[in-house]
Amino acid sequence: MFGNGCDTVPQRAVCQNCGGLLYEGVDLKPPDEIIQQYDGKCPKCGKKLSSVPKDVDVKPVK
Ligand SMILES: [Zn+2]
Repeated sequence: MFGNGCDTVPQRAVCQNCGGLLYEGVDLKPPDEIIQQYDGKCPKCGKKLSSVPKDVDVKPVK
């Protein structure tokens, strides 16, 4: 990583179907864990989520 830990970049996970926010925070979570928290489906559009293929997009927030 980048060293000193003073500029922590929040991570955000969004539903690939509706773009709904599934997770946001400074800890990088694996998509599996995020999906499990939502019982395997998007709380907004109800789309069934799976990490393979990637239905959840996890990326740094600028
Ligand atoms: Zn959705």
